[in-house]
Amino acid sequence: MSATNPATAKCALCGASDVVDEIARPASTYAARGTYRIGTCAACGGGQTLPRPDESELEAFYARDYKYDAHVLIAGEKRWRARRILEEALPPGNVSSLRVLDLGCMYGYLLEEARARGVKEAVGVELSPAPAKDAQARGLDVFCGTIEAFAVNRPEPFDLVVAQHVLEHVSDLGSFLDTANKLVAPGGQLCICVPNFDARARRLFKEAWGWYQVPVHLHHFGMGAMSRLLGAHGFEVSKQIRRGGDSLFVLLTLLQSIGRAPSSEALAPGFVGKAIVRTASAMLRPYYFLGDDELVVMARPSHKA
Ligand SMILES: [Zn+2]
Repeated sequence: MSATNPATAKCALCGASDVVDEIARPASTYAARGTYRIGTCAACGGGQTLPRPDESELEAFYARDYKYDAHVLIAGEKRWRARRILEEALPPGNVSSLRVLDLGCMYGYLLEEARARGVKEAVGVELSPAPAKDAQARGLDVFCGTIEAFAVNRPEPFDLVVAQHVLEHVSDLGSFLDTANKLVAPGGQLCICVPNFDARARRLFKEAWGWYQVPVHLHHFGMGAMSRLLGAHGFEVSKQIRRGGDSLFVLLTLLQSIGRAPSSEALAPGFVGKAIVRTASAMLRPYYFLGDDELVVMARPSHKA
């Protein structure tokens, strides 16, 4: 076990100084094993990637290695998951007066599903220019930039703000959540999906678990860490759900557990690779009901309730 880097010993999730190196060689699509470690906080149970990459290091990873191509292969699953989120997060009945915001909307699957349900407005925010342009070209209202820049340009609040697999990538969680809080209308809610650091499969597969994805995942959330963090930024948790994560990452876990770690290039597979991913994705779909690798948290701004 290596020594904790004193510069990163403070927990980014709860602020305690109890971060202990625990996972020395997490598997990742983005870095060789052992390049990054994960420290766990004794106070909140959350994890953080060590050493914490600086902004220029992260930008290089996103520009060179981070692609959504493999996610396009499971677009059907993404849409299905988006429908489940909307079923859980929108009130039953008529939604024609409601406005939905999807932070980190990628290609806008959730926006299309929200439109199909008849919401008044569905707006997306996406940092990555290629999927943002793709979504805009399909007639969707997508802002390409940060949540902070969006909030300056479009300050009107939303009845539902969704952030699927975004928080684990965010450098400044405080700024993100404070901005999200302002964007939730009175009576509205925030719905967050993140990999579940307390997942059974993580204990089973140990360092081969597919959701570590260091260093692009900076934070690793269990429910204890999530509720503390949300509480510190003016949110009250109203509901928590655990379910199986994307089939893509289940497949990745299985491959990594037998020492077959695909590189980031393999996430843009050729014809045969695509067929394999699609078939595996379909076969692994029932895992949604069995697994607990994804944590879904609904929260309401405490002062607006
Ligand atoms: Zn902590």
